[in-house]
Amino acid sequence: MLNKEAVNALQQYPTPFYYYNLDTLRATLSEVKKHALDKGYRVHFALKANFNARILNEIRNAGIGADCVSGGEIARAVETGFNPSEIVFAGVGKSDDEIELALLHDIFCFNCESVQELKVINGLAVKHNKKPNVALRLNPDVDAKTHKYITTGLNENKFGINEEDLDTVLDLLPSLSNVELIGIHFHIGSQVESLEPYRQLCKRANQLNAYIESKGFTLTVINVGGGLGINYQEPDQKAIPDFEAFFGVYDELIELKPHQQLHFELGRAIVGQCGSLITRVLYTKPGRTKNFAVIDAGMTELIRPALYQAEHALNVFKTTTGTQAYDVVGPICESSDVFRTDIMLPELERGDMLAIRSSGAYGEVMQSEYNLRTRRKPVYSDDLK
Ligand SMILES: *Cc1c(COP(=O)(O)O)cnc(C)c1O
Repeated sequence: MLNKEAVNALQQYPTPFYYYNLDTLRATLSEVKKHALDKGYRVHFALKANFNARILNEIRNAGIGADCVSGGEIARAVETGFNPSEIVFAGVGKSDDEIELALLHDIFCFNCESVQELKVINGLAVKHNKKPNVALRLNPDVDAKTHKYITTGLNENKFGINEEDLDTVLDLLPSLSNVELIGIHFHIGSQVESLEPYRQLCKRANQLNAYIESKGFTLTVINVGGGLGINYQEPDQKAIPDFEAFFGVYDELIELKPHQQLHFELGRAIVGQCGSLITRVLYTKPGRTKNFAVIDAGMTELIRPALYQAEHALNVFKTTTGTQAYDVVGPICESSDVFRTDIMLPELERGDMLAIRSSGAYGEVMQSEYNLRTRRKPVYSDDLK
């Protein structure tokens, strides 16, 4: 929520900037605790959604671990104080350097995505005299029904080990002396808006769990990934995702043996709603068919609209009687640098402040210097006077 006091206090900062409401984050974290951690589930936060140290501190303090997809993220997680035993490493293209960094930190688990990767990790583990835990990222062929760029669990996607390769992997594992298979891992996609794909995932996970254990392996970790969507249309009404319903699917459908623990990797659902991108109108430009509002934030600060055709809610902080339809566009020299088309807003003037809501996930982390833009510093609710 951006209340009136916050909006007044934000006027002093040069735009554009990311604004984080830490109270929203804390309220979200306490729901995750209630519906997951308190039931004995483990949650790792996907750093790729937001690797801001101050945000990570809140998340770590809430008892959540770190899910990393690069050496840089592992280093950031360690610096921020995550215990290596709470760090997992995923990704379809782990480089040798990144694997070695993870080995030297003795992280909890590598989520492996191919036969060749398992061999490489084993070889590097031999070299460093380590025996890391590994989990197999399996492709469950479940359609997450989300944008094609953020669908990851179909056979045609680059992620995970496909079913037809599973026996090859299981036959190979006993010969890999320096890796320890501890679990299976899935991640079907991001911004998943219905719970149905998760029900299907539970079924697949149960089958694969039973199959692999029937082959004589012991799986202690069943990691079902993340991807739970947030409400971009109504960020205030639904500020906290329905964790009760999401985790409830697993309470009901996942079949765990007594030696098994359920793990999750949430990114967007934890941080999405606590962030806003604050910007100002630079110019209003009436056109023959359209009215443009050119703002000082662009795809360099929030690329989701340009990359995934995402629509973020906009708040305008003024009270005028008139409204108008606008295309709200950024300053970057790309035709895809558009935040909203044909949106009804109060009549805008140069200097008006706007908040582009739900920017806490995949916002600041995807910031770029394209057009030689300068990186923007965040502002936190705790620091507002
Ligand atoms: C991106 C990612 C996540 C988190 O996805 P969200 O949609 O932000 O919840 C979890 N696990 C893996 C392996 C990922 O790549």
